[in-house]
Amino acid sequence: MKAAKYPYRFAVRTAFLTAFLVMLIVCMACPRAGAQAPVQTNGRSVALKGARLIDGTGRPPIENSVLVIAGSQIVAAGKAGAVSIPKDAVVQDVSGKTIIPAIVNLHGHLGLSNNGADSAAGHYTEENVARQLNKYLSYGVATVASFGQDEDLVFSIRADQHAGKIGGSRLFTAGRGFLEYTGKSNPADHRYRPQNSEEARADVRELATHHPDYLKMWVDDGLGHGTKIKPDIYRAIIDEAHKQHIRVFAHEYYLADAKSLLAAGLDGFAHSIRDQAVDSELIMAMKARGVFLIPTLVRDETLFAYADNVKWIDDPFFQSGLEPGALTMIRSPQTVEKFRQDPDIAKYRAGLEMAKKNLKRLSDAGVKIAFGTDSGIPGRFPGYLEHRELQLMVEAGLTPMQAIVAATGTNAGILGGAKQFGTLQAGRAAEFIVLDANPLDDIRNTEKLSAVWQAGKPVPAVSVKSTTTSASRQ
Ligand SMILES: [Zn+2]
Repeated sequence: MKAAKYPYRFAVRTAFLTAFLVMLIVCMACPRAGAQAPVQTNGRSVALKGARLIDGTGRPPIENSVLVIAGSQIVAAGKAGAVSIPKDAVVQDVSGKTIIPAIVNLHGHLGLSNNGADSAAGHYTEENVARQLNKYLSYGVATVASFGQDEDLVFSIRADQHAGKIGGSRLFTAGRGFLEYTGKSNPADHRYRPQNSEEARADVRELATHHPDYLKMWVDDGLGHGTKIKPDIYRAIIDEAHKQHIRVFAHEYYLADAKSLLAAGLDGFAHSIRDQAVDSELIMAMKARGVFLIPTLVRDETLFAYADNVKWIDDPFFQSGLEPGALTMIRSPQTVEKFRQDPDIAKYRAGLEMAKKNLKRLSDAGVKIAFGTDSGIPGRFPGYLEHRELQLMVEAGLTPMQAIVAATGTNAGILGGAKQFGTLQAGRAAEFIVLDANPLDDIRNTEKLSAVWQAGKPVPAVSVKSTTTSASRQ
């Protein structure tokens, strides 16, 4: 399968900075409350026993499990009695809890804002990107694939992370993505805009010198307001990228484009198909090459959520991760009016409904379903939206187990990391979320974070404040 052949590399894309009001995102790694006491291991192994273990492979949960951790790795996972606990292990009783792998977000963005909403240039710094990686991690999202809006600085940030100089969520990146040439230059937008296929090939070769984890391009006209990258150009991008052993993932919207991209050799869809129902021709073409689809349902929801003042804005789990002032901005009459007056708002709502139906149909047909949110764009809050996406996938008709597997084991496999992370098995990173309630009973229970672990240790998780400020609902 093509996916296995290419190294995992990522793309970032330059935002549609569609003037998404001003709110504040990106909180620092907040200290968390209500979790277990820190584990003092002094180099000894750790055994968590008694929890329900959902390992991310899709296998049934293990009730009364034992998870043995040595250093940063899992050394054993299984049913109590079937797993031996080292004599000197620090044993922690987590009976009544549920453990799932940390979330892998296959479609995020970094460095576009330092406050969550303001998309002005100048936020793309290592410090800001690291802050956002910590924000993701605090919500239990331990891997983020940045999708085509990064600057070249991302490659040194990635190198610094590999060298242990910065922490947070594990970073993958596409570097600079590919967009249609519009004739207008925007210094804040770092994407490649080739004007013909030769330029496209040269740009791909330039990108390849940075060793991106994959390539990202946009094939969309923004509901008719823009122009799409031309087929001869995207065919050249895909062909040249494959010559460089780089996989190509595309932002798409229309079924016809999806089919044309598949015929050109595309490796993955960054969003749902939203203009019409998917058909068997598309399904067969996707299955034939193992092409995945990232639904990003929450991306479509955020296009009208603030106009509707949706219920999750009241959710303390959402509010706890916001920068000071962000909530006030989301709820300000100006913000609400701006969203309400968007002439395309009815299309956004319809697009989400179509995306849900298509997700269910593709999943039932056996197409590979990945997981991602498009968070990190101003107005789309990293960390919380990953939990909301799981809920929307279940609303679409997937089981909680299917949604969790997409967000863990499947995504790790797509990133070439199946042997390193994404599932809770011997030899994988000890990177998981401890929950107070079972997400298989109700997917909203992924919000009941008791602890987030990375590299074999609990890390600061988002601190849920019990007070809500819902007074300004309108
Ligand atoms: Zn995106």
